[in-house]
Amino acid sequence: MPPLHPGTKQPLKAEDLYPIFCEEVSRQEMNETDAWIEIPEEVREMYRNYRCTPLVRAYGLEKALGTPAHIYFKNESVSPVGSHKLNSAIAQAYYCKKEGVTNITTETGAGQWGAALSYAAKAFGLDLAVYMVKISYEQKPYRRSIMQTYGAQVIASPSMSTKAGRKILTETPNYTGSLGTAISEAIELAQSTPNCKYTLGSVLNHVTLHQTIIGQEAEKQMEMAGEYPDIVIGCFGGGSNFGGISFPFMRHNLSGERNTRFIAAEPASCPKLTRGVFQYDFGDEAGYTPLLPMFTLGHNFSPANIHAGGLRYHGAGVIVSQLLKDNLMEAMDINQLEAFDAAKIFAESEGIIPAPESSHAIAAAIREANKCKETGEKKVILFNLSGHGLIDMAAYDQYLSGDLTNYALTDEDIAENLAKIEKII
Ligand SMILES: *Cc1c(COP(=O)(O)O)cnc(C)c1O
Repeated sequence: MPPLHPGTKQPLKAEDLYPIFCEEVSRQEMNETDAWIEIPEEVREMYRNYRCTPLVRAYGLEKALGTPAHIYFKNESVSPVGSHKLNSAIAQAYYCKKEGVTNITTETGAGQWGAALSYAAKAFGLDLAVYMVKISYEQKPYRRSIMQTYGAQVIASPSMSTKAGRKILTETPNYTGSLGTAISEAIELAQSTPNCKYTLGSVLNHVTLHQTIIGQEAEKQMEMAGEYPDIVIGCFGGGSNFGGISFPFMRHNLSGERNTRFIAAEPASCPKLTRGVFQYDFGDEAGYTPLLPMFTLGHNFSPANIHAGGLRYHGAGVIVSQLLKDNLMEAMDINQLEAFDAAKIFAESEGIIPAPESSHAIAAAIREANKCKETGEKKVILFNLSGHGLIDMAAYDQYLSGDLTNYALTDEDIAENLAKIEKII
């Protein structure tokens, strides 16, 4: 289903996106004809600093679980900024630079996207302003320092610097922010600043396209290992790392050659795929973005303050949403304690401390590996390790001291929020 213009509610054209995004990514977003889009040489040159990332057979984890399954993970935590986000940040900064853009804006929740874009902006000589969700700005000061070290300007959102921010602060002075609000602020700044474009680190098609480098490499690496995955797993915020590792494998399902299962692992406290509805909704709180046909909890959904900040988004990418609706993939919800239990087992057995986001994928992989233990099946499981958790040790501290809790979300909470968006289209 097509994205719709938020004003006219007519199907969106690439040109409709030009005032917000640079032209090349706008065209990529709406591209329905090209199966392959070449990676520019300047982008490849930057990729060479950290790619190809390792594909690792998790022998230690297999042994710790006592499973006959073969578990592999693609290690995106080795990028200079510690997550997969850099793959798209480099591409987006490059396209902006090439089109003569001088300033870019964005939002960040946990700070991973902001960190990646700060480095990419510096590499291509762009000035960057980042709206950072206020609660993260206060709770994750090191992420802010990382962005500032790369030379970015970081603003806590909601802020008084935009109409969207002022409106929310007037209504709710103590509001601790959300990704939706930060997106509204960043888009507003991009539209009111000359030669300035907005960028987004997840959800949209072009972001997921850039992330398919993960799955393309993994496909070649699995071939070198002489195996093919029965199950591919990614954690799920807006869908870019999940789509990035899944789509290159999924095309073989679509052509009938393979029958791989694909599992998106989302937090139980922000369960758009497992408990949301499929309908048109805005990507941001203020309603500036196009209307996207997606699984959503409602654009004004305010998720619990879990540590996996990168997974606290109300909606899901359009392609992933359609794939889920058509039963070409599955979704699993994981609560916070199960994610950290999985992180601890993974850290002890593989030596890498995973990001709280990635731990949802690990937890899903462990569930599947434990099923193999019961049935004796030697399934091949591949998951994406989207990032490391070395800047998330405050979260681990809470977990280790027993202070971490699960957040229950009742059906009434979900229904109440969804009722607010029923009549959008
Ligand atoms: C941002 C982030 C995610 C979630 O975003 P997706 O677009 O769903 O991939 C997952 N893991 C890490 C480490 C992140 O930084």
